[in-house]
Amino acid sequence: MDGDERDRMAAHAARLVPDLEGLAGVALGWVDTSGITRIKTVPVPRLEHAARWGVGMAPCFDVFLLDDSIVSGQYIGGPVGDLRLHPDLDRLVRLAALPGWAWAPVTRYTQEGTVHPMDSRSLLAREVERLADLGWSVRGAFEIEWSLSEDDGTDHFVPACKGPAYGMARLSELSGYLRDLLEALAETGVSIDQLHPEYAPGQYELSFAAEDPVGAADTAVLIRETIRAVSLDHGLVASFSPKVLADSVGNGGHIHLSLWRDDPVEGPVNMMTGGHGPFGLTAEGEAFAAGILGRLSALLAIGAPTVSSYLRLIPSHWAGVYGCWGLENREAAMRLVTGAIGDRGRAANIEIKCFDEAANPYLALAGLLATGRAGLAAKASLPEPIAVDPASLSDTDRIRLGIELLPESLDEAVAAFERDDVLAEALGPEVIDTVATVRRGEIALFEHASPEQITESTRWRH
Ligand code: GLU
Ligand code: MG
Repeated sequence: MDGDERDRMAAHAARLVPDLEGLAGVALGWVDTSGITRIKTVPVPRLEHAARWGVGMAPCFDVFLLDDSIVSGQYIGGPVGDLRLHPDLDRLVRLAALPGWAWAPVTRYTQEGTVHPMDSRSLLAREVERLADLGWSVRGAFEIEWSLSEDDGTDHFVPACKGPAYGMARLSELSGYLRDLLEALAETGVSIDQLHPEYAPGQYELSFAAEDPVGAADTAVLIRETIRAVSLDHGLVASFSPKVLADSVGNGGHIHLSLWRDDPVEGPVNMMTGGHGPFGLTAEGEAFAAGILGRLSALLAIGAPTVSSYLRLIPSHWAGVYGCWGLENREAAMRLVTGAIGDRGRAANIEIKCFDEAANPYLALAGLLATGRAGLAAKASLPEPIAVDPASLSDTDRIRLGIELLPESLDEAVAAFERDDVLAEALGPEVIDTVATVRRGEIALFEHASPEQITESTRWRH
């Protein structure tokens, strides 16, 4: 970052300040390795200074575990050093659910003015550019599931509603809360596709329209913090933890992706439909999907990144624990969604079901884009699609069809992650080492813990 860029950022902030009339401060947020959004805030009159010079924050937050204990890796660790948080002013937004506050995601720079190698938002932006250089763009969206609890003054989970899965009763019980949530999201400028009661006790879900990958990750962060704030306003507590109760269905963080080619005549064309491959996939759409599918074991270390993720990843819970794909198959790790006939050019996409919301959404998407790009380069093809719950097949049939169970523990996923050449190249040695260090730190944290103890101590962290 040079002087001219600092001038531009400061001028941009100065232009924004009049629109921030009535606000007290701006939260400058980023997501750490363990998937927790960390912030510094500045009062509005200080925004211009923050835009020019950034705001200091220690690099050791990259090696924070989900319980705020700190480990040390080969590249990051210890109390020494500082980074500068620079707000992305194009994404600055008033937080309707937190009156008086705005939020902006940041890019983390070193004091020398270069982007910090652990800045996951920049890593994702770089993957977007790499695909753009090849003529591709990606659209993505996250499904946000949360478990809503009453606040009984303890750390227990007490479902905030009693109605059945997908039941109208769950809307009737909490219609004021859900109305306030939709209103707050609309006021925050987030465009929601749908909201519904989910399967598990007290669980709800909402989904939003696909956008560019960095925008989608920003939106996922913004939605979660909005849900959290509206819940607290109603005396309720929201959990985005992969597993809130040891014996229940978990919270997924499914990611939807579609690959698009920028056609000079037709404009952007969705490669997940309109082709001659299975279910209308184009050869390129298939290659992109196959690149991801073939590396899901490694990707789990960033998509299902914590010990409790593996309490969620169990067969026949719609979490997609088998490394296979299928048309609208909710037990496959990769579900092809075509949408209704007539709408497929807009709607067709692949859904990665095995990921959860402990994932840093920027890092998770960066990994998906990098492995998709590797699939494109290799002209990879998909195995046979699977049209049943793989758990219902015999071992022999699963072997015959090449269906493997994805890693059943974080340990296994980290080992696959460290072996993966595509992720090593895309993310760089600092990220690989830091992710592995943090994961091993969390594995050690829960080494002797029962599923109940794990869910109890991680329930309110994400
Ligand atoms: N809650 C399920 C999960 O853990 C997903 C349910 C669904 O398919 O929406 O991923
Ligand atoms: Mg769901």
